[in-house]
Amino acid sequence: MAIKLDIATYPGNIINNQFVPTPQTRSSINPATGENLFEVPIARKEDLDVAVAGAKTAFKSWSKTPFSERAKLLLDYADAIEANQQELALLLTMEQGKPLSLSNNEIERSLTWLRAFATMELRDEILQDDAEKTVYSTYPALGVCAGIVPWNWPILLGVGKLGPALITGNTFIMKPSPYTPYCNLKLGELAMHVFPPGVVQVLSGNDDLGPWITEHPSIDKIAFTGSTATGKLVAASCAKTLKRYVLELGGNDAAIVCEDVDIDACVPKLAMLSFLNSGQICMLAKRIYVHERIYDTFRDKMVAFTKSTIKTGSGMEEGVVVGPIQNKMYEKVKGLYAQIEKQGWKTALAGSAQDSASGGYFITPAIIDNPPEDSSIVTDEPFGPIVPLLKWSDEIDVIERANASKAGLGASVWSRDVKRAERMARQLEAGSVWVNSHFDVDPKIPFGGHKESGIGMEWGIEGLKHYTNSRSLWVWK
Ligand code: NAD
Repeated sequence: MAIKLDIATYPGNIINNQFVPTPQTRSSINPATGENLFEVPIARKEDLDVAVAGAKTAFKSWSKTPFSERAKLLLDYADAIEANQQELALLLTMEQGKPLSLSNNEIERSLTWLRAFATMELRDEILQDDAEKTVYSTYPALGVCAGIVPWNWPILLGVGKLGPALITGNTFIMKPSPYTPYCNLKLGELAMHVFPPGVVQVLSGNDDLGPWITEHPSIDKIAFTGSTATGKLVAASCAKTLKRYVLELGGNDAAIVCEDVDIDACVPKLAMLSFLNSGQICMLAKRIYVHERIYDTFRDKMVAFTKSTIKTGSGMEEGVVVGPIQNKMYEKVKGLYAQIEKQGWKTALAGSAQDSASGGYFITPAIIDNPPEDSSIVTDEPFGPIVPLLKWSDEIDVIERANASKAGLGASVWSRDVKRAERMARQLEAGSVWVNSHFDVDPKIPFGGHKESGIGMEWGIEGLKHYTNSRSLWVWK
């Protein structure tokens, strides 16, 4: 089936494989122009109740559907998304702001993720087997799972929850961010033609929809990606019904650059890994610690590379890396730029946060030159195209500084001496740690945060287990 983008009002939420309109609608904006986009539904509590009831009914047969059939439908779903890649990529750029090439990359990754999940079967494990008994670990599905999705990677992070939920036998309700509802509704529309009613449903709503979901007594698990502040609210709300939850939250990743790196090879990678998606990725290099022996050269080369290669503009323009800031975060990021002068931070690259004539939320990259360790540009997640470079000289000290953050999502060490880098990497407090890289992700590798960056893991067999109960089954012969 082919989806269409030329509709001013979306026909409804996707509930039990039907479009269910709502009395009220709302719209998000195109962040490159400030213009309103399509009208989308505002779900009421009763819409959620109908969806949850449908998901509960569907769970009875979906949880008993053999793995091979569930896998086949996930593959069919990936094919349906692929057949609509062009329209989805345009929509993603229009709604989210990211460059079209990155939108295509997000969709291609989503296909890879879905196709990988379709191969990942959670099998029983035999814990003891003797003449008298066999004891197994088995992994029954939880029931109705809800995915609460952020606006920065709405398609990948949407299917990154949908796939594991479905392949382990759960039914799934997706709640988009109010900033990017349309992409996720389209995912629901495509799912209508693949899965039985109630297996995949998508509800767009206002700010009250998230809390209704986390409180709902018949939802069994929340898979949440978003800010640490909201994650804490989600955990508190889930506690009321002892719902399971996995939280993927904010990050403030340190990248430690040693004195022996190939600077020319390292600079373009770290510059891209600071400014990709306008800095609006949980797991970018957000604090770059550069050894003092190479600090000045590294800084100057990073500034030169950023000026020459990292173009800011509309996501529809060829060669753009930094698209508009997606939403009201624009004011927050502008506030951070205003701090540069107020706090007396030195800039290696000043950046600009002026309102553009087009009405778009454009901000050009800034590089802050060795600010104090306790300044907000070092301690807080900026979620914009601004990054501090910091000097270090002592290995133990830099590891302590990297670990001083309450966040613990990702971290990296860059060195030609791989043994030394690995030794340092093993001391970093983060859910993903890379040597000579940053932000590698894979559907078969667990992904999650330490400390205030999250609880539990997504993806990999470990992530799939979070969509199940662990049941010990004792069989006496
Ligand atoms: P957010 O916390 O504002 O919103 C995330 C989602 O939660 C949205 O769908 C929102 O509508 C919903 N929500 C808001 N209040 C809620 C409540 N009280 N109960 C339930 N749901 C509620 O985050 P955001 O601004 O959309 O995303 C940016 C943040 O997400 C950044 O901090 C970023 O680091 C983080 N993030 C983390 C990961 C990760 O995998 N760890 C990935 C992407 C983004």
